Amino acid sequence: MPVIGIDLGTTNSCAAVIEGGRPLVIPLHDGKVTMPSMVAFGPGGTLVGEAAKRQFVNNVENTVYAAKRLLGRHFEDLHTQKAIASLTYKCVGGPNGDVWVVAGERKRAIQEISAMVLAEIKEACRRHLAQDVTQAVIAVPAYFNDRQRHATKQAAKIAGLEVIRVINEPTAAALAFGLDKGGERRVAVYDLGGGTFDVSVLKVGGGAIEVLASAGDAFLGGNDFDQRLYEWLKWRVQEQCGVDVTIETKSAHRLFEAAEAAKIRLSGETKAKIALPFLATTAQGQSIHFECDIDRATFETLVGDLVDETLRTFTDTITAAGLKPTDIDEVLLVGGMTRMPVIRERVRAVTAVEPATGVHPDLVVAVGAAVQAAMLTEGAIPAVLLDVTPHNLGVLTVAGLSETVIPKNSRVPADMVRRFTTVSDNQQLVRIVVFQGDNRHIDKNEILAEFRLEDLRPAPRGQIEIDVAFSISPEGIVHVTATDVETGNLQTINISGAVGLPEQEVVRMAAEQARELSTSH
Ligand code: AMP
Repeated sequence: MPVIGIDLGTTNSCAAVIEGGRPLVIPLHDGKVTMPSMVAFGPGGTLVGEAAKRQFVNNVENTVYAAKRLLGRHFEDLHTQKAIASLTYKCVGGPNGDVWVVAGERKRAIQEISAMVLAEIKEACRRHLAQDVTQAVIAVPAYFNDRQRHATKQAAKIAGLEVIRVINEPTAAALAFGLDKGGERRVAVYDLGGGTFDVSVLKVGGGAIEVLASAGDAFLGGNDFDQRLYEWLKWRVQEQCGVDVTIETKSAHRLFEAAEAAKIRLSGETKAKIALPFLATTAQGQSIHFECDIDRATFETLVGDLVDETLRTFTDTITAAGLKPTDIDEVLLVGGMTRMPVIRERVRAVTAVEPATGVHPDLVVAVGAAVQAAMLTEGAIPAVLLDVTPHNLGVLTVAGLSETVIPKNSRVPADMVRRFTTVSDNQQLVRIVVFQGDNRHIDKNEILAEFRLEDLRPAPRGQIEIDVAFSISPEGIVHVTATDVETGNLQTINISGAVGLPEQEVVRMAAEQARELSTSH
C-alpha cells in the first residue's frame, strides 16, 4: 500500500507519492494538483477544496480557511486572536483552551476541519491510485511546536490516516531536490505561500539534513500582495467611475479575485489587462464596466516593501545560522509566490546563486514528504534527518524558577536529564510545569504539561531528589518522565497525550467523519 506525502498548507494543499522511483503528484480535483485548504458548510452539505472556495463569497461565515493558523494553538494566545480578527468565520475557545470554529450551526475542533481537507486528499489518492491509502508523511513548518505537531497528527487520525512521520517543510524541500545525496552544501529555503512566509537555512549532504536556523512571518503571504493590488484597483475604479464598488461584498470579492489573477499573470507577462463587466451599478442605476491595464513594474512598486521585508528576514536568518549570504550553495524556492520574477531576482542578487529549478514551487513540499515516505517504507537507508528544535524547552518548578532544559536550535532527537530537589522541609508535592517557547516571561510561552509527584516521604528540604528526563523525538514531539531518585518511583508524562483533543474524542470524530464520507462518496 502506498504511503503518501502531504503538504497540508495554510492556503493550498497537495499530495504526492513515489512510484517506480519517481514522484507522482496526485490530481486532487479536475486534474488540478493543488487544492484550496477550505471547508464550507451549507444547506447542501459539506464542501471541501475547490468547491468550498467557489461558494465562499456567498457563504463567508460558514466557510473555514487558513485553519493551519489555528491548529494546535490556544484560543487566548495573542497570535490566535490576531489571526481570528482577520477571519470571516467565528471561533471560540474549546474545552482544552484550544480553538474551535462555529460553522454550519455547530462547533467543531480545528483538527476536524483539517481532517476534512486530509480526508478529501486521501479519497483523491485512493481514486487515482486505485488502492486504499491509510498512511502518510505530513510536512509541517519548521517552527511548529509540540502542540501544533500533535494537532496535525490528530487531524490525520480523524481523517483515517496514520502519520508515519512528521517532517519539516524545508527538510522536505531539500529531499525533493535530492540534495541529501550529494556532498555537503549550505542550502537556503525561501518559502512564500498564500498566507505565510518561512525561511530556513540547512546544512545538507552525506545523507544528513540539518536545519541550522529558521524564521518567518505567519502573517505575510500572497494574500497581502493581492490586497495591495486590490486597493490600487479600488482607487482606479473610483477615479474612472466615481464609485466605491467595494461597499458591495460581491463586487469587492470580484475585484479581489481579479487582483490575484492579474498578479499571477504578471509573473509570466509584463502587462496584464483587467476587465470586469457589470462590476457594480452607479446611484443612477447605470452598470459599471471596469477595464484597466497594469504593468509588472507598477505592481512591483505596489508590493516593494513586502518583498523588501521578506529579503530582510531571509538575510537575517542566514546570519542567525552563522553564515554570510555568499556562503549559500543552493537556494530553493517554495510556494506559489516565488514564481514572481522580482522575488527570484532579489534572492539571486543576495546569494549570487541561481535558484534551483526542476521541481515546481507549489509541489516541492509534497514531493519531499513523498520521498521521505518512500525512504521509510521501502527499506532504503533513511537519510539521517538531523533537525533542530525550534523553541527552548524548559520547566517551571514549584519554587517559581524557570529553567531552559533543551535550548532552541539543539539537534533532535535530543535527551536531557535535570535533577530537582525539594525546597521546604517535609514537602509532599513537587509540581513541574513543562513549557516550550523563547519568552523570558513564562506565561507568554506554550505550557505543554503540568505534572505532580505526590505523597513524597517526609524529609528535610533538599533531601528528596527528582530526576526529570526530557526527550524530543526526530519528529519534534516531546516526552517527559520524572523519577524519585531514591525510590525509583517513575511518573511518565507523555506530553502529546496531555494536549489537544482527548483520545476518545479523536476516535469519536474519526468514526463520525468516516460515516459522513461513506454517505458523500
Ligand atoms: P501556496 O500557498 O504555496 O499554494 O501559494 C499560493 C500563493 O501563490 C497564492 O497567493 C497565489 O496567488 C500565489 N501564486 C500562484 N501562482 C503564482 C504565480 N504564477 N505568480 C505569482 N503568485 C502566484
